[in-house]
Amino acid sequence: GGRFGKPSISKQTVTFADVAGQDQAKREVSELVDFLREPDRFQRVGAEVPHGVLLVGPPGTGKTLLAKALAGEANVPFFSTSGSEFIEIFVGVGAGRVRKMFEAARKAAPSIIFIDELDSIGRTRGTGLGGGHDEREQTLNQILAELDGFGGREAVVVLAATNRPDVLDPALLRPGRFDRHVTLNLPDKPARRAILDIHAKGLPIEDPADLDMIAAGTPGFSGADLKNLLNEAAITAARRDGRLITRDDLGEARDKVMMGTVRSLAIRP
Ligand code: ATP
Repeated sequence: GGRFGKPSISKQTVTFADVAGQDQAKREVSELVDFLREPDRFQRVGAEVPHGVLLVGPPGTGKTLLAKALAGEANVPFFSTSGSEFIEIFVGVGAGRVRKMFEAARKAAPSIIFIDELDSIGRTRGTGLGGGHDEREQTLNQILAELDGFGGREAVVVLAATNRPDVLDPALLRPGRFDRHVTLNLPDKPARRAILDIHAKGLPIEDPADLDMIAAGTPGFSGADLKNLLNEAAITAARRDGRLITRDDLGEARDKVMMGTVRSLAIRP
């Protein structure tokens, strides 16, 4: 999304094949592909398909990636914004933007709306103190109104991502709103290996078997961490003017990302 909270629209080329692991989440989300591809089939028999899907999971586990993959698989336009972009903007602006985004998505239906970091806008109302509080509340109210405004059969799926479902305003989770939850988890060893494979494509890894070692030695790493690790290893190789990414490069990169992870976890509120 834009820096000042302008929602963006795009066509996605990402598919489920780009999302490693997360089999359960992929299965659940893929149920929406048929509906988005051929909403008529559902509409003509009066079938109501859920509009609001909450993607829940730790940072970097592929929530955004999965939402994009759904758009790519269904071949529908992807409208996206982030809750954090609505903080510190003028009162009324956020609500207006939400309204416009939903309007555009309805016009473009079948389509997908993705709201990243829902928790930054969707925290329980009435707990903030001054500041952007009124603005945040208005924006949240607008999101609720838009969700309620869907006729049961409109072909717009609204996905929202959060790593803090516990702080969400309960109003967001009521039936007809984000009443379907899909959980993404930190990857286990085989999933880490699969994620490394995806992101190592095109990289000159000296011995691909080293990726087994990395997968084994990175419990707690997210998909985003593993992607960073490979990039860090490539940078390390470039710095020493190497042609191939060696086991040492990978090991060094692993340590760096691990320290970075520890540090960023420590400062997280
Ligand atoms: P955040 O909560 O921090 O927004 P997120 O859950 O939305 O994180 P993404 O932004 O989708 O995570 O992940 C960041 C990047 O990490 C992705 O663009 C992708 O390259 C990589 N990645 C994460 N998970 C996976 C996965 N399961 N398979 C392949 N790549 C992944």
